[in-house]
Amino acid sequence: LGGSISRAIQQMSNATIIDEKVLNECLNEITRALLQSDVQFKLVRDMQTNIKKIVNLDDLAAGHNKRKIIQQAIFNELCKMLDPGKPAFTPKKGKTSVVMFVGLQGKLCLHPHVGSGKTTTCTKYAYYHQKKGWKPALVCADTFRAGAFDQLKQNATKAKIPFYGSYMESDPVKIAVEGVERFKKENCDLIIVDTSGRHKQEAALFEEMRQVSEATKPDLVIFVMDSSIGQAAFDQAQAFKQSVAVGAVIVTKMDGHAKGGGALSAVAATKSPVIFIGTGEHMDEFEVFDVKPFVSRLLGMGDWSGFMDKIHEVVPMDQQPELLQKLSEGNFTLRIMYEQFQNILKMGPIGQVFSMLPGFSAELMPKGREKESQAKIKRYMTMMDSMTNEELDSSNPKLMNESRMMRIARGSGRHIREVMEMMEEYKRLAKIWSKMKGLKIPKKGEMSAL
Ligand code: GDP
Ligand code: MG
Repeated sequence: LGGSISRAIQQMSNATIIDEKVLNECLNEITRALLQSDVQFKLVRDMQTNIKKIVNLDDLAAGHNKRKIIQQAIFNELCKMLDPGKPAFTPKKGKTSVVMFVGLQGKLCLHPHVGSGKTTTCTKYAYYHQKKGWKPALVCADTFRAGAFDQLKQNATKAKIPFYGSYMESDPVKIAVEGVERFKKENCDLIIVDTSGRHKQEAALFEEMRQVSEATKPDLVIFVMDSSIGQAAFDQAQAFKQSVAVGAVIVTKMDGHAKGGGALSAVAATKSPVIFIGTGEHMDEFEVFDVKPFVSRLLGMGDWSGFMDKIHEVVPMDQQPELLQKLSEGNFTLRIMYEQFQNILKMGPIGQVFSMLPGFSAELMPKGREKESQAKIKRYMTMMDSMTNEELDSSNPKLMNESRMMRIARGSGRHIREVMEMMEEYKRLAKIWSKMKGLKIPKKGEMSAL
């Protein structure tokens, strides 16, 4: 996809006269590329219309920055399409929230017997919150598929998350209600209800879903969608939205060959934001959804193009080589994390750069919660002050055994759970960082090209 879009824009910038015909040709080329990436036809057409309104031919004709103007317009347009205008309901730690998962499985998916990933995603969602100190619980309201309860039980046991379900009972509504009741009594703050997504008569499936929803009154219904369903995404998402109050979307299997365009369809059809993406079969292969890096990827700009631009823009020339060297080595030590935290607190140039890293921005420093984030970063730094040089300079998280974490907790007057949480954060950032290993560092000016 990236290739054909950049080719289209390249051709356009080579044209000496930019008239409507050339712009149209360019847009048609991009349209084709987006369709190949599974973006729904109607959405592509709308985007095309909007771009034409935004991009002023006279500006283009004036010569400079044609590419940048069009690139930026497309980028912005796609970002807008992924933003339904209102955020999803966010559960609050310590308060009880019921979250119900819905989604299809079976023949509408590419592989006839493979589900969209609901059960897997339920556990990932629970595990994600548990790591942050929540008390999640899982309820299996899939009474149809043989083995559904076993699967959930196995996942939940592995993650040490309480679960509820039954081998005997065949009424999903009854189980859902019992499970939710029980975990409310046990003061769980995130009660997750997994539903059946079998391919039976659609009407019957939707009716069952409605009944479970009416009986458990979920605070949030999450629609789980397999990213490989292609152009079917819009209709499927819309069908769910019409039956139950979908409030958020999780797109799974983004690690495969899927091209991701379905995410745009799901947002358009449900008028709900994508909140996470699934990037593998394992429990921790789960990421907070971040619009800009996603769109960059969709356009083939690479995750790091904005990041690299920013480095050249704001980091003083003499500091660039060292920083880029560290990046390309891919070894993320606790000391580097410490230094970056310092930079972020100062919000000096490098701080700004790192606040652009997908992981830094969405997870560590969510918008609107800057104060909290700052406090957290300071807390982490206090704990790191109690580390030895060996610990700070190692990029092996296994070095941090329990007794070391204990010592650090004592030394900094924090709880060991907080040290563990920080180490989780470290591992997460190290994973992002390691993706840049061996990165070929483009020279200034090269990276703004698509
Ligand atoms: P359900 O029928 O909707 O509950 O789907 P399951 O949770 O049982 O998942 C169906 C299959 O998809 C399983 O083999 C999962 O391991 C796999 N799966 C789920 N999410 C992901 C993902 O993000 N990436 C990959 N590669 N596989 C996934
Ligand atoms: Mg399932």
